[in-house]
Amino acid sequence: MSDGSDIPDNLVRRVGWPGSVSRAVATPLQPSVVYASADPDQLDAQYEGRLSGFTYAREGHPNADVLAQKIDALEGAPLTGGLILGSGMAAVSAVLLGLLKAGDRVLGGNQLYGRSLRLMSQDLPRFGIGADLADPTDAEAFRAAIRPETRLILVEVVSNPTLRIADMEAILTIGREAGIPVAVDNTFTTPRGYRPFDHGADIVIHSVTKLLAGHSDVTLGYVATRDPSQRQAIRDFAVTTGMTPSPFDCWLAERGLMSFHLRYDRAEENAAALAGFLAGQPGVRRVIYPGRSDHPDHNRAAGLLGKRGGNMLSFELEGGRAAANALTRAMPDVAFAPTLGDIGTTLSHPASSSHRALTPEGRAALGISEGFFRVSVGVEDIDLLRRDIGAGIKATALSR
Ligand SMILES: *Cc1c(COP(=O)(O)O)cnc(C)c1O
Repeated sequence: MSDGSDIPDNLVRRVGWPGSVSRAVATPLQPSVVYASADPDQLDAQYEGRLSGFTYAREGHPNADVLAQKIDALEGAPLTGGLILGSGMAAVSAVLLGLLKAGDRVLGGNQLYGRSLRLMSQDLPRFGIGADLADPTDAEAFRAAIRPETRLILVEVVSNPTLRIADMEAILTIGREAGIPVAVDNTFTTPRGYRPFDHGADIVIHSVTKLLAGHSDVTLGYVATRDPSQRQAIRDFAVTTGMTPSPFDCWLAERGLMSFHLRYDRAEENAAALAGFLAGQPGVRRVIYPGRSDHPDHNRAAGLLGKRGGNMLSFELEGGRAAANALTRAMPDVAFAPTLGDIGTTLSHPASSSHRALTPEGRAALGISEGFFRVSVGVEDIDLLRRDIGAGIKATALSR
């Protein structure tokens, strides 16, 4: 009652959202953690699903739902819809830990994302869950790695960083015949390149952080399942363990997603052109791009991805670490950063980042030398890219 009237101050209580017959065109950002219901009966109805309404943001919020709907549409996800989680690894973890129990085993591709491999080798065993790995480009090896306890298969279509193409048709058939759900981490391919549900996959996972959000300013994940009971198990695990995404991140990702098709098509066009450019440069030992006829899985890539070679390419320089240092120093405008899918081109060096935990021999077995680079091609003018990368390659001449 600071003004002397008998009406108490009301700084703490929220006022109603201003009504408007016209609606906001941009999605509103809704940071509210809690939602007020009218009475306990209504809250019961909400929890029991008879009335729809948000309750507590860890359990769900509008910005996550809006983003999930958009990715659902891109992926052709079942009507129950996907879930947005706090990171791509939250999505991978929620799938593995939400669906498997002690005594079960998961069969994974042997070149999965590094943290997925680590989860399988270091963490799942602590919960009594076993993990096996097999080469997803070799259908027979994959089939042979199935054990009686195998309850889930996890694969990526395009491996990192050697960009090998999994034999998806065979793996999906193996899963179907054995009654084992197949989860596809579709981060590299994106639904523009490959839609796992259309081919019979049971679960689709994304690191939204990468191409879908596309601006290196949010960390988010997505998961959708064909089977509603699996969706429920994954959601319960994610809500309990607090894998909730931030509304602001979801809002930013939705904004990023609006230009996904445009960015992807342009980046892919650039990648194809850059692969051709690199292949003609002195000191470049090999170029790996699924759209090139000299790619080891070119026919499979053409069958699975059609003309979509994607935005990722790798190349190997002569001259080892010295050449690698010279390259990145000579092209400071292209971020040397261990990520992918940014709107701008980024360059990563697996020997010093994603694959640093391996021995040099272990890396050599995968074809990753000190001169090996992975490029996530962005939407820049191709002439700018040729100029920057050309300058980088030129700077390696002294190291060869
Ligand atoms: C980056 C990445 C992840 C992990 O996603 P985060 O959002 O960084 O947690 C998982 N799988 C693949 C293929 C990735 O590239």
